[in-house]
Amino acid sequence: MQKTSKLYAIVHGKCPQCRRGDIFTGSLYGFNVQRTNTVCPHCGQRFEIEPGYFYAAMYVSYAMNCAEMIALGVATYVLSGGNLEFESLWLYLTVIFTGCLLLAPFNYRYSRVILLHWLSPKIKYNAYYDKP
Ligand SMILES: [Zn+2]
Repeated sequence: MQKTSKLYAIVHGKCPQCRRGDIFTGSLYGFNVQRTNTVCPHCGQRFEIEPGYFYAAMYVSYAMNCAEMIALGVATYVLSGGNLEFESLWLYLTVIFTGCLLLAPFNYRYSRVILLHWLSPKIKYNAYYDKP
């Protein structure tokens, strides 16, 4: 039986226990609103293992946001040819604000994926469930 790799499970937002069930309903950038499943549709692992568990994901998404804002700021600086004039302040603000808006669904999804896969010692990969 072929095991599902951890990288695949993380990239595709799969359950940390079976790496097959979807953590989220809807696609990353679809018209339908992205929601987190209560339990894994494949193995039944509960995702919000205790009430308010996903509050911790806010810290992860906060850290992701900071990193992205810095990356966007640096990218704007490089792409605008090192322009740091006061007039270009709006350029930076527009790029960073638009970037964060576009990245919001990404952050929502991956902050929870990171929380479930890396920061949840209570949830472990179980090869028993990793089959169709
Ligand atoms: Zn599962």
